[in-house]
Amino acid sequence: MFNALVLEQEEGKTLSAVKQLDLSDLPDEDVLVKVSYSSLNYKDGLAITGSGKIVHKFPMVPGIDLAGVVTESRSPQYQAGDQVIMTGWSVGERYWGGYSQYARMKPEWLVKLPQGMDAAKAMSIGTAGLTAMLCVMALEEGGITPDRGTVVVTGAAGGVGSVAVAILSQLGYTVAAVTGRESSHEYLRGLGASEFLTRAEMAEASRPLEKQRWAGAIDTVGDTILARVLAETDYRGTVAACGLAGGYKLPTTVMPFILRNVRLQGVDSVMCPVDIRTQAWNRLLTDLPDNALGDISSVIGLADLPQAAADIVAGKIQGRTLVDPN
Ligand code: NDP
Repeated sequence: MFNALVLEQEEGKTLSAVKQLDLSDLPDEDVLVKVSYSSLNYKDGLAITGSGKIVHKFPMVPGIDLAGVVTESRSPQYQAGDQVIMTGWSVGERYWGGYSQYARMKPEWLVKLPQGMDAAKAMSIGTAGLTAMLCVMALEEGGITPDRGTVVVTGAAGGVGSVAVAILSQLGYTVAAVTGRESSHEYLRGLGASEFLTRAEMAEASRPLEKQRWAGAIDTVGDTILARVLAETDYRGTVAACGLAGGYKLPTTVMPFILRNVRLQGVDSVMCPVDIRTQAWNRLLTDLPDNALGDISSVIGLADLPQAAADIVAGKIQGRTLVDPN
């Protein structure tokens, strides 16, 4: 028997409880993983609170990330004892996920833990950190080097935002942070941000083109903030958009694209091909300093998840939250 957080639905409401399960309760997939750590992402918050249509069928063990050790495998790709990471692939949405002491996974969802990284570090990074790395790689693909000017990060004190600030700063970029929480300034300064903008000033409706201020941007919030970021991006700048914490709309015009050659690059980590994922995980090993991660992460257990989920949806969580199911 082992513990897992189980979501059920009653009269349209999502209910969560820590339950004891048996290995035979797990879905019939090829690789059995003893979970060392999972993590809390915005999407997990939406799933547990039932505030977004994230979960496709109930009962569901949520948790879109996990890292652990293979204990049984019917796949030649993995053997007992292999250390693995899983993020994305609709796990925790369509398939049972990481808020559990054991999980059964398809081999194609897994990547091997890079040498020099442990499960706790992998989950301090998690989907949010992987997405931040993919956003930085998107800026690099757009030719945004540190000498081009300042990169702005929105939702900066959140999971994706915090890791993005730390990576950009480590790579030598000048980083501006958009945050709704003044109390996060010191934290963000510690990660490498040197300029601060309020959520309110950036959310104000913008003209189609504003004064150019940003060589590049990583946007985790969408809506009017992303529209303003686009209107303020330099000629030939790149904006990597990955989130909707402020809303899914994008009230913009074609002007930044046709007059300033601005590139808007979408970033998705869920279905990201394995070769790019592996590249991103290896980059995280070198480009995200351990001391930054220590400052970014806190640890909770399965029973703490309902409260933490409500907090992340309310925008009250700073940095990354590691989940220890054991
Ligand atoms: P967090 O909740 O940790 O961070 C989001 C941050 O956005 C908050 O900390 C807050 O930052 C800011 N924020 C919250 N509400 C608002 C609002 N109404 N208006 C403007 N800013 C707001 O979430 P994550 O970092 O885990 O995820 C961020 C976004 O990225 C989410 O939308 C998530 O769904 C998406 N995402 C997408 C992925 C992909 O593959 N495309 C993968 C991972 C995440 P502050 O306090 O600094 O203002």
